[in-house]
Amino acid sequence: MLRRLVNEAWFDLTITTTGPILIKSGYPTLVGPDMTPVLTSRNGTAQVYLPGSSLKGTFRSHVEKVIATLRPGAHLVCAPFASQSATNQSCGERFNRRKYDGEDISSAIAYRDGCPACRLFGSTWFIGRVSIGDAYLVDDAVARPTEQRDGVGIDRLTGGAAHQAKFDLEVVYAGVQFQTRVLLRNFECWQLGAILMVTQDLEDQLIRIGSGKSRGLGSVRGSVDALHIAYPGLRPEQAPAGVRGLGRFLGESSLYGTAPDDELKLAAVPAGESRGLRVVQTFSGPDFAALRQAAIGDFVQRIDQWRQLAERAV
Ligand SMILES: [Zn+2]
Repeated sequence: MLRRLVNEAWFDLTITTTGPILIKSGYPTLVGPDMTPVLTSRNGTAQVYLPGSSLKGTFRSHVEKVIATLRPGAHLVCAPFASQSATNQSCGERFNRRKYDGEDISSAIAYRDGCPACRLFGSTWFIGRVSIGDAYLVDDAVARPTEQRDGVGIDRLTGGAAHQAKFDLEVVYAGVQFQTRVLLRNFECWQLGAILMVTQDLEDQLIRIGSGKSRGLGSVRGSVDALHIAYPGLRPEQAPAGVRGLGRFLGESSLYGTAPDDELKLAAVPAGESRGLRVVQTFSGPDFAALRQAAIGDFVQRIDQWRQLAERAV
């Protein structure tokens, strides 16, 4: 992907558990519960945390689900485990075959021809535009805010436990807050919209995280107070009256399949603040709400264009 950094957006996401959640460690314990949460060593203690990789998986599958709902049957998102003959086989697999057939697949081509989910979250051919850090306890006075649950009948969670065998889980209880940072670099406006849509659905408690979701585990509420957008190389007076996406920087001659009009126009924007060699705009309150609405609208519109392109290609 581009070596040059043209834009960057980041925000802190607070995740509050509203019911018991379990992000499995994957390690069975010899004594104690059969399933325990992931722990990390921080400030000298073993603390529970939510791994960024797991959160990124949650974000990706939610975006994929929304795209499939917006455009049912269009197969705009690749399926990693689709058969070779399927139209929606994974982007990585398609590129492997094109390379095998002698084509030189640059990262620009892999991006241009990647599905929306791979463009945003990455594929085996390039890293994604978004990164999500590990979420740590906001208040770590209690390093292991957990309780034990009797997991009888939770067999679908494990695939085992026939005959209602007793099964103990150690879960994070309700009311615990975690915080992580979400960062987008060289993003298109629709990608910011996809990510902000996930944060809105987290706010509305529409997304569960971790294991045992079908058994009622994983209820959380997300919240975001402010979003920061930086443009390296721009002076404060050059700060856009909206949001400038990657496509706007690459222009008409883009090799990445981006749109030259990749820009969100907003009625009001916060003043640009000079920080080193870049300008930073911080959106909060009504500014953030307006930006989020515009970005989500752009996401929905681009997905629709994607579908039209896909239909024309058939
Ligand atoms: Zn893909």
